[in-house]
Amino acid sequence: MSVRVRFAPSPTGALHIGGVRTALYNYLFARKHGGQFLLRIEDTDQNRFVPGAEDYIIEALKWVGLIPDEGVGFGGDYGPYRQSDRKAIYLDYALQLVQRGHAYYAFDTPEALEARRESEDNFTYNQFTRTGLSNSLTLSAEAVQEHLDAGLPYVIRLKVAPNQEIRIHDLIRGEVVFQSADVDDKVLLKADGMPTYHLANIIDDHLMKITHVIRGEEWLPSTAHHVLLYQGFGWEDTMPQFAHLPLIMKPVGNGKLSKRDGAKFGMPVFPLNWEGATEDDHFPGFREAGFLPEAVVNFLALLGWHPEDDQEIFTLEQLVEAFSVAHISKSGARFDYEKAKWFNQKYIQAMDAATLATHIRPLAEAKGYTVSVEYLQQVAVLMKERVTFLPDFVEQGYYLFEPVRTYDSETVQKKWSETVAGIFVELQSSLGDIEPFESANLEEKVKQFVQEKGAKPGDVLPLLRIALAGTMKGPAVFDMAVALGSAETVARLKRFVETFNK
Ligand code: GLU
Repeated sequence: MSVRVRFAPSPTGALHIGGVRTALYNYLFARKHGGQFLLRIEDTDQNRFVPGAEDYIIEALKWVGLIPDEGVGFGGDYGPYRQSDRKAIYLDYALQLVQRGHAYYAFDTPEALEARRESEDNFTYNQFTRTGLSNSLTLSAEAVQEHLDAGLPYVIRLKVAPNQEIRIHDLIRGEVVFQSADVDDKVLLKADGMPTYHLANIIDDHLMKITHVIRGEEWLPSTAHHVLLYQGFGWEDTMPQFAHLPLIMKPVGNGKLSKRDGAKFGMPVFPLNWEGATEDDHFPGFREAGFLPEAVVNFLALLGWHPEDDQEIFTLEQLVEAFSVAHISKSGARFDYEKAKWFNQKYIQAMDAATLATHIRPLAEAKGYTVSVEYLQQVAVLMKERVTFLPDFVEQGYYLFEPVRTYDSETVQKKWSETVAGIFVELQSSLGDIEPFESANLEEKVKQFVQEKGAKPGDVLPLLRIALAGTMKGPAVFDMAVALGSAETVARLKRFVETFNK
């Protein structure tokens, strides 16, 4: 039987980075086993529906390169893949469950239930309380029929049988056992005819022939209900296998990573920028912070999974090769933003100039810089060992696109002397004539010249770097001179001399 897995987010807001990890693990698992990866949108909770969230999910998956084989926006033979478009399917199944004695009608009004909640601590609708409530287990068959005929609002609830053990063999956690006494009679079909997450999720996993459910640990308790549903429908034979992924923890301290941690720790916790309806529903994304999607994928892959050896850098293909559910950890994975930055640096450093140039181009254009592709490639080579984020190319390296804004005058003052000043005055008129204007040749000629003047290269070259970039942190000085070209290099020397030779 071919492996089929699904990523099933609810469009209730921006997709958290943990959701992207869930998608990634599903994707890797599907690819590893030659199976299919589906995207199903679980939007049955209309109160929590947020416009734009579905598009965001799709865009985020595309950005990180996890393209579903089937799903909303991707087609497939098991559609529709958006639960609100499947509404008609669920009622029949809910009724089937009632007929089979695994679910029942409940007519309790919201007010009646509210009153119970107020008068009883931790009130839950379950095998103990249902006997005193208004449902098809307590009412006579005639009364139930009358209620239905009169069009009284009702929900359909799962009927949890007493004294049962519900066992799950979780691929990550091993044996997990629930007692049915702890499992409540969840609503399966709401009064508005919409299924709840539990019902829709199980029916869809069944109809879409899902073989493995890989999802966050927060869904583990729900799995008890899900197993009962599979049993209730008589679908045990094709029940998927479960794998519950470890939580993603805050960078420091206890607790799981929350969307508020982004602002607190100065880091994105969403893949893309999200601009919700209100001011406090705006969040920065990894993409806009200047991460390469490949780096984000690599970082996320290791957030809860480890390979057999200690390899850290993996392409998506290598991840597919190395991935196994057996190496997913049970304990929470700490969200280490410094590590994410480290991955980004590594990926930028390893990227070829032409590809980097395509990433730098829009950033340069947004700043109003118009430069050739060849020049962008030179910028890429000059800066790639020095940057952490893509925008650093045009922000830290702004001097490759426009004149130096400020000089590191402290360093200049320290090294400035009459000899040095004299050297700069001469360099200003002779440097432009050095032929060929190539890095190694420039270096040789300048060093020779400096020595002839009785100075040390160490006294002059750092200043030359400051003349061209304003800072000591710039790229290798002669490479930079070549990229800027002889005319611009000379112009910068001139301005430098004018500024300090007073
Ligand atoms: N709709 C659920 C969510 O938002 C899916 C959980 C599952 O994968 O079953 O995460």
